[in-house]
Amino acid sequence: MKIVDLKTHAVAVLVEAPLRHSTGVHPGYLVRTILELITDEGIVGLGEVGGGDQTGLFQKLKPRLIGEDPFHLERIKQKTLRQIYYISNPRAYAAIEIACLDIQGKAAGRPLCDMIGGRLHDEIPFNASLSYRYREGDLGGETTPEDMVAYAKQEVARCGFKSGKLKAGVLPPENDIAVLYAVREALGPEFGLRVDPNGFWSRGTAIRVAKELEDCKLEYLEDPTWGLEGMARVRERTSIPLATNMCVARFDDFAAGVAMNAVDIILSDIYYWEGIQGVKVLSGMCDAFRLGLGMHSGSELGITMAAMVHTASTLPNLTYSVDTLYHHMLDDVIVGGKMPFRNGCIAVPTGPGLGVELDPDRLARAEELFRERGDYYARFHEDTRRPGWFPINPGW
Ligand code: MG
Repeated sequence: MKIVDLKTHAVAVLVEAPLRHSTGVHPGYLVRTILELITDEGIVGLGEVGGGDQTGLFQKLKPRLIGEDPFHLERIKQKTLRQIYYISNPRAYAAIEIACLDIQGKAAGRPLCDMIGGRLHDEIPFNASLSYRYREGDLGGETTPEDMVAYAKQEVARCGFKSGKLKAGVLPPENDIAVLYAVREALGPEFGLRVDPNGFWSRGTAIRVAKELEDCKLEYLEDPTWGLEGMARVRERTSIPLATNMCVARFDDFAAGVAMNAVDIILSDIYYWEGIQGVKVLSGMCDAFRLGLGMHSGSELGITMAAMVHTASTLPNLTYSVDTLYHHMLDDVIVGGKMPFRNGCIAVPTGPGLGVELDPDRLARAEELFRERGDYYARFHEDTRRPGWFPINPGW
């Protein structure tokens, strides 16, 4: 089998209300690039990547992919991730690998998870992203603990989530602390709760906040401060486990993270860790070093959601619910629209490959919205309600 063509689509999908984070705002919509790898046997593999419009990057890589066998992933990886100095990109490779594994599954008539070891679980629990939101129509506008409790309860009622994560660092730390205790009180001791200011607190603030949160029964503090050194020093001063998707976010970081005792839990990500097979390698490394394993979300649509669910289903040591922003989105580009949450979980698709297909009408609408709204990443930090504002680290 050979790859004979490649198609790309830059798409935008609306979110319910703009999501605030410590370095800016998701401006009411999310941009993804959809990849179609076409084979000489007529099988089409689907991939997806974030980070704005990546269509140009895939077109640059196209000559390196044409003629390759989609089963020969090690060779494709060397050609697209390792050897092109100026466009070396694990994110692009991850999207290509998703598409190749989709092709492999379709060729075998088996779900993608069967290409990577087979599933241990039939459904994967997800975690509600609880962001402070700007108001959009009747939605959003949350700032106070009361607002955030109402919002968390609504997400739990709507999707059945058993855990939630506060995207902190937007408002003063005292507000985040009050929100976390209020959510703990409202949703009870069994509700999984975590907080992520994206490294935006100073080391001193992080130590102080950790001390004040000792009685909140958090699953973990995620990137409370910047960098391996800061995380290692905070970790010495708290009993709350530290997680990261920032300071140990690629294979090159792993040895230093372990040597410095900087983290307890690594949040895997198909795009940071060189694809689905890279996440499998990371899973084994975390197991060997007795580190916890979670899974980070980078605002995925259905193709990546399916890839994440397939991957997660095969990981024996993934003991934390998977992050997601999917519940904020108003549509998807796959047939049937968004995959449903049931009791906070998404079922592992059982069809061949990823088990999801592109919906031509939804894809066309999402491409049109991208043309109207423009590239998301160019405006990633822009906060139109605070003209001229930009993040300074540490923020608190
Ligand atoms: Mg994070």
